[in-house]
Amino acid sequence: MIESMSLKKSYLVVVGARPNFIKAAPLFKRVKEYNDLEFTLVHTGQHFDTNMSKIFFDQMGIPKPDIQLEIEGELYSEKLGKMFSALKKIVKDPKYQGIIVFGDINSTLAGAIAASSTSKKLIHIESGLRSHDRRMPEELNRVITDHLSSKLFVTEQAGVDNLVLEGVDKNKIFLVGNIMIESIEIFKDTFDQSTIINDLRLEEKNYIVATIHRAENTDKKEILEKILNILCDVSKINQVVFPLHPGTRKLISNYGLGKYLESLVVIEPVGYIDFMKLVLGAKGVVTDSGGIQEETSHLRIPCCTLRDNTERPVTLTLGTNKLFPIESMKSDEIINHLTKTDFNPKTIPFWDNQVSKRILDLL
Ligand code: UDP
Repeated sequence: MIESMSLKKSYLVVVGARPNFIKAAPLFKRVKEYNDLEFTLVHTGQHFDTNMSKIFFDQMGIPKPDIQLEIEGELYSEKLGKMFSALKKIVKDPKYQGIIVFGDINSTLAGAIAASSTSKKLIHIESGLRSHDRRMPEELNRVITDHLSSKLFVTEQAGVDNLVLEGVDKNKIFLVGNIMIESIEIFKDTFDQSTIINDLRLEEKNYIVATIHRAENTDKKEILEKILNILCDVSKINQVVFPLHPGTRKLISNYGLGKYLESLVVIEPVGYIDFMKLVLGAKGVVTDSGGIQEETSHLRIPCCTLRDNTERPVTLTLGTNKLFPIESMKSDEIINHLTKTDFNPKTIPFWDNQVSKRILDLL
């Protein structure tokens, strides 16, 4: 018994924010089939509101975190430092081979430096994505994490190309597909349980879903005001449902921009099942989210991305996703893209229900 237990490979899995939870769900569902693997789940507490955290654990069957950190602090550097030192202390335990991190959030970076400073393996899921815009905190998190990783699991071919160009050893890079899409495939039969479209009195294919939370779109009052103006223009044609990220809500209030919300259907952020139901029923989406560009591409829903660039270029090649740089974006062009239906029918390689299996087989 003791001998067989010691043969297990044990990893610390670090999650901290909404997109991480959605990416972790398929991995935890599937790991039960692997007798030689054992995961300890750490939640850094980066997102802590019920609607940004607990609801995803409940709906997606993610196990309760084995370790819950409560990282407090005003400054980015303070929180990052606290996360790093807490994770470093935990991963030092000789039973852990390494740390698994997802995506590009601050918890990802904290996990990455904790693994490398203790000479443990670092596994990065959703590796290689590059916006080539070093002003974005997410881009720095991606670049540093990738260059500390010993296994890099990539969602799309562009990610492999980026890593090779940056000199990452090809033997460490694995194109496994998109684990966020696996979540859609796992949970799609439950989306119809959501009553959100009726509850909000919306008409299918006659409303738009909007989400805005990136720092570059919310840090400056003028930019956020420009975006809210665009959403108000869109709402003259179709109702706009706006699940408002808590950070964005706070800034709208601080800047005194609340009047723009009056013509929108503003709701709290919703859980995964309600959100997917909303997106599937929508005519289109206006967003600055990373993950939503991918989900809408998979679901063939038009997506207007209010950003200068995207680290997910495959979504542009399908025609579902279109970039609207903040400087030059125009309401009529956005409204026009939301009516598009002529998308490239090709499927994206490995964006299916086997992504977690490819990853776990390689661990
Ligand atoms: N999402 C959700 N409820 C919402 C808004 C988004 O469940 O109210 C999901 C969405 O489907 C996607 C993920 O959250 O899977 C994206 O998270 P977010 O936009 O916060 O992060 P990003 O992908 O930009 O890093």
